Amino acid sequence: MAKNPSYQVKDLVDPSQKFASADLHHDRPGEEAILTCNDAVARGAIEAGVRVAACYPGAPVSYVIDALAGAAGVFPEMHVEWSANEKCAYETALGAAMSGVRSLCLMKNVGVPWILDPLASTSMVGVGGLVIVAGDDPGAETTQAELDFRNLARFGEVPVLEPANLQEVKDAVRYAFELSERVAMPVFVRITVRQGYSRAPVTLGAINHDRRRVAPHFVKSVTNGWTGYPAIGWPETGTALLHKRFHGEAPAAYLDLMRKKPTEADVLEAADACPFNAKSGPDDAPLCVITAGFAALEVAEALDLLGAAGEVAVVKLGMTYPVPPRLVAETLTRHAQVLVVEETEPVIEEQVRALASEVSGAARIHGKKTKSIPYSGEISSDVIVPAIARLLGRPSPLAAADAAHGETLDFIRARLPFLVGGQFCAGCPETAPTRVLREVLDDVPGEGIACGDSGCGFVAQYAPVSLANTFVCMGAGLGVATGISHAGLGKVAAVMGDSTFFHNGIVELINAVYNRANVLLLILDNKSSAETGHQPHPGAFGLTATRQPTKELSLEDVIRPLQVDYLKVVDAYDVKGLRQTFREAMAVDGVSVVISTGACALIVERARKDSRAKENA
Ligand code: SF4
Repeated sequence: MAKNPSYQVKDLVDPSQKFASADLHHDRPGEEAILTCNDAVARGAIEAGVRVAACYPGAPVSYVIDALAGAAGVFPEMHVEWSANEKCAYETALGAAMSGVRSLCLMKNVGVPWILDPLASTSMVGVGGLVIVAGDDPGAETTQAELDFRNLARFGEVPVLEPANLQEVKDAVRYAFELSERVAMPVFVRITVRQGYSRAPVTLGAINHDRRRVAPHFVKSVTNGWTGYPAIGWPETGTALLHKRFHGEAPAAYLDLMRKKPTEADVLEAADACPFNAKSGPDDAPLCVITAGFAALEVAEALDLLGAAGEVAVVKLGMTYPVPPRLVAETLTRHAQVLVVEETEPVIEEQVRALASEVSGAARIHGKKTKSIPYSGEISSDVIVPAIARLLGRPSPLAAADAAHGETLDFIRARLPFLVGGQFCAGCPETAPTRVLREVLDDVPGEGIACGDSGCGFVAQYAPVSLANTFVCMGAGLGVATGISHAGLGKVAAVMGDSTFFHNGIVELINAVYNRANVLLLILDNKSSAETGHQPHPGAFGLTATRQPTKELSLEDVIRPLQVDYLKVVDAYDVKGLRQTFREAMAVDGVSVVISTGACALIVERARKDSRAKENA
């Protein structure tokens, strides 16, 4: 068992209170409050009467659950949870929505692929009141892939709302529940990292207490319930029928059998009626910018910098998948040139180009496809100003600044080596296990390959630790290590955190055992989802998101029945013990698991400060 006393942190920390907003539950319509983006999301959901909320933490939406947990303490009907992974979060929210209560799930952009199976299987079964708030990360500042989840929403044909400022964030989340019920399908709300970390005055709305207190009900009908699979005797599968109905191709005889199901026509109608669509500037301007989300604020700044606000039209879209067809067609007819400004992939632009093919005399379209706006990175006024200036046929006022900036970068690049890296915090319990594992891998016979994973431990790939040779996504370290071992390169190491193990690492471990892989899995058990803000998880704190006591799963107890060939728990600060353990584990032919135990140093330090403050009080 763990020797390190810091490992027992249950009484030392207060994770769910750290970011909780005390007063989001107050019913003060019309009052202005300074809210963070996460608070704005939470408040929008509270105003909508959300009953169930679930999330796996990830930037920039990690703290919404903390904010909602405060409200759940006041509204007893609310259930708020940290889920083991995004698929669990979506399915929890889905089940609640199927029971007739409004539900919310949250995830970061690379979390969205985890829900694609249940999302695609349920987007057309007719479930409403289900909102997914997902955080995109243009520039991939906090993510392993610069993934634009709007393309994944498209995969399930699910609408996406894209608010610009924080007032719209709050209002769009509230509106998304109404929209979801109207079109009878889940609705995404897109938040980006810059929005996610902003704070602004927001006018509060009334809280829909009746909606939150609604009695749950569940439809059990086979033919008209929640399954997309075929009802026996029907000539077509229910799934195909739902898809046909969505696109207006279902035989009329079937339509009466169904209660409210989504249709593309309803969604397109809703896109044109979206209250967050806005037009500004002259109707007859030769140039119009079509934009959405945070990029819309940057477009406004760019036009101010250019002094061109009065001569360029702007169409801000509130729904970006699908785009409002009538509004876009009208825009393409009215202006000679259109510049599409959005972050990250050309999701709006491609839809605008498709609509342009149906509009005679449509505007010439510029955007990412014409290299006017870059694909990668956050889209700021720096890149919008020159793009608009070019289309207006005038010099960019930023040209001199751009040139100076370029010279500065050249100067720095010429004098500094290419630096990459990150480092563990001082006193981090992950430092010794990762350094010692690299030392042992370099020493014992074999290739010395190690596969890394998400979480704080990802910095172990950089010097001076230089442990991990691959990094793919959550849980993939062990999967990739398994593949490398089966390719014939001997025993391969993998490293993951405790939260990642419960997210999906457990399945990777079962697969490795079943398929007789030759791997060593090091689990860095720091007793929280440390990288995303120290949230609890099934193996940490023994607390739910609302600070209710719950079962705390021991990694060792969970892993032992999986019949691994070697299992040992070792103190994360016991260098000698780590060295000895890794040597033993590497000598075993089969699946070895080493759990290094040491609570995150930041949690321990915070606990020490709290206890000192209590003593001095
Ligand atoms: S947050 Fe905690 S676990 Fe993560 S690097 Fe810092 S001390 Fe280590």
